[in-house]
Amino acid sequence: MSTLDSLSLTRIPAQDEALRAEVRAFLAQATRDMPAHVRARSWGGYSTQFSRELGARGWIGLTLPVAYGGAGRSAFARYVLVEECLNFGAPVGSHWIADRQSAPLILKYGTEAQKQFYVPRVCRGEAFFCIGMSEPNAGSDLASVKTRAVPNARGFVLNGQKIWTTNAHHCEYMIALVRTSGTSEDRHKGLSQVIVDLSLPGVTVRPIEDLSGDSHFCEVFFDNVQLGPDVLIGAEGQGWEQVTAELAFERSGPERLFSSIVLFDQWLDYVRTPQGRTDSAVQLAGKVLTQLAPLRAMSVAVQEKLTRGESPIVEAALVKELGTTLEQMIPAAIAEDLFARDAEDLPVELLMTLKYVTEASPAFSLRGGTRDILRGMIARGLGLR
Ligand SMILES: Cc1cc2nc3c(=O)[nH]c(=O)nc-3n(C[C@H](O)[C@H](O)[C@H](O)COP(=O)(O)OP(=O)(O)OC[C@H]3O[C@@H](n4cnc5c(N)ncnc54)[C@H](O)[C@@H]3O)c2cc1C
Repeated sequence: MSTLDSLSLTRIPAQDEALRAEVRAFLAQATRDMPAHVRARSWGGYSTQFSRELGARGWIGLTLPVAYGGAGRSAFARYVLVEECLNFGAPVGSHWIADRQSAPLILKYGTEAQKQFYVPRVCRGEAFFCIGMSEPNAGSDLASVKTRAVPNARGFVLNGQKIWTTNAHHCEYMIALVRTSGTSEDRHKGLSQVIVDLSLPGVTVRPIEDLSGDSHFCEVFFDNVQLGPDVLIGAEGQGWEQVTAELAFERSGPERLFSSIVLFDQWLDYVRTPQGRTDSAVQLAGKVLTQLAPLRAMSVAVQEKLTRGESPIVEAALVKELGTTLEQMIPAAIAEDLFARDAEDLPVELLMTLKYVTEASPAFSLRGGTRDILRGMIARGLGLR
């Protein structure tokens, strides 16, 4: 039984719910040989082969127009697919960003040539993108980015550095937020988004190892990289507005609720056994579900607003702040539960999964915007800032 089966407080239309069984059958097969501590990497797990298999089924770019290689389905169908991928711990990392952000961004603001060149390959799982927003001194204060693209006869010359760029070492392309005019003091003015081919001369990508020993994010250096004339997405100087709208998509999805779900399900399996069942564990299971069910309903409600073309920035911040708090509570509470027991009785795979999620969990409330920044945005929604 999946935890998702207990969470029915949503209004996902029946025709989109109908996709769930087919997706589950595929994922059960695709992840059958992956132990839980590997599946616990969730959307950090990486397999180009898995992405291509998903692409062959039409499950990348599910909401994108058929004319560009997508499946033309609703955002709710994608929600079902994404939830199931997260619940199985499928290795979605390679196509994740291109599917969620880059291809929709190109479709919304890009030129016809950009749409035709990039989007069908994204949908086939053949072109992977990373997000180049953060810099060493521009994380929360994103408007102070210094990486600069200067126009020249052949297009733009790019100089600067990005950091914490997830999967830059595996991706073909980065969509980078860069300064195309003015100075850092101009803040939001003069910023643009450009597509950077990461195989170009002058690009250096250096992976960074995290606490768990994984190397999923990178430093990326640009040293006089000659970009073509067709790299701008949208109008010059519109980067800030585009990035802000993109972040609402990044912050409200099921990936902000389910990062610890593989661990939770593993632990539930143990609690269902005679030696695993205790009163306090049963209480904890109820507590987690009490928080997960309304959160999922909130996340689906934000999805509805996005589908209507609205930009629910404060609502998305609420989902991320509450969701990542729960994602971090789960490993801490499970550790407390397990460490109160006799160590010899504990399943090793469960402990390995707990170890990984515990090490990964500090990042849950950093990636995509920190807790402090989200709380500031929520306060702004109350007219306090
Ligand atoms: C796993 C992971 C993956 C990531 N992937 C990407 C990626 O693919 N692409 C990308 O561009 N970035 C990525 N990031 C970077 C992430 O977006 C930044 O780490 C985040 O925005 C915070 O920026 P910073 O690290 O510079 O910290 P800082 O902005 O220096 O913040 C340090 C601390 O100060 C607090 N703080 C800062 N400003 C304020 C304020 N005004 N009020 C109150 N408190 C404040 C912050 O909350 C934080 O606790 C990733 C990060 C992680 C952890």
